[in-house]
Amino acid sequence: DQARGHAALVVAALEDAVAALTEAEERLGRLDAVAGDGDHGRGMVRGASAALAAGRACAQDGGGPTAVLTQAGQAWADRAGGTSGVLWGAMLEAAGRCLRDDDEAWRRWEADAPGVVAEAVRAGVDALRSLGRAEPGDKTMLDALEPFHAELAGRDADEGAAAAWARAAERASRAAEDTAALRPRVGRARPLAERSVGSPDPGAVSFALVATAVCARHTA
Ligand code: ADP
Ligand code: MG
Ligand code: MG
Repeated sequence: DQARGHAALVVAALEDAVAALTEAEERLGRLDAVAGDGDHGRGMVRGASAALAAGRACAQDGGGPTAVLTQAGQAWADRAGGTSGVLWGAMLEAAGRCLRDDDEAWRRWEADAPGVVAEAVRAGVDALRSLGRAEPGDKTMLDALEPFHAELAGRDADEGAAAAWARAAERASRAAEDTAALRPRVGRARPLAERSVGSPDPGAVSFALVATAVCARHTA
């Protein structure tokens, strides 16, 4: 049924995320080592892999997208270690709670899939902001997530979810590269902020990678 189909989509997205992060693990570690502690690649792979395992198990038990995202988020936060893992876990859980699995949610999805996706991303960004307390310009993953959401929300009326997501992922990638000019004002990179100028924020780069990987399968 529909819930199963959408749960499978979420699991597929987690698979894409794990593949992209595994490929980029070393690069993300090097970026984090510029002014942080160098563990971002390792943490993202560990967190996303745990999220995938938990999401798969939940989908096999018949869970819908809300349950899959909630379980995945909890596993990510528990297993990643580090700041970004807790934040990613909270984002997935918040997005999951926003999606819902009931009939009304399916009707809304049928009527306006891109709008529903944009709302779920908004819920994730809000969770990130209330937990991490970072502001735009502080050189964190928020600096890729806010433009990503803005692009999704500002889509053309007749544009499908996949096309809107692809455009948003491109915007997130540019925004992640643009963080190179910034100085970190929160997190572990703050004490060595000057060193980080010229390198993009690892968390912004990994978010853009995940967003790009997740859309590739649906737009190919
Ligand atoms: P840690 O800093 O604990 O070693 P990671 O290296 O995995 O964790 O993640 C670092 C990334 O987390 C940063 O590049 C930044 O994008 C993100 N980050 C850190 N603190 C915050 C925060 N308060 N709000 C949003 N994102 C943050
Ligand atoms: Mg780190
Ligand atoms: Mg660390």
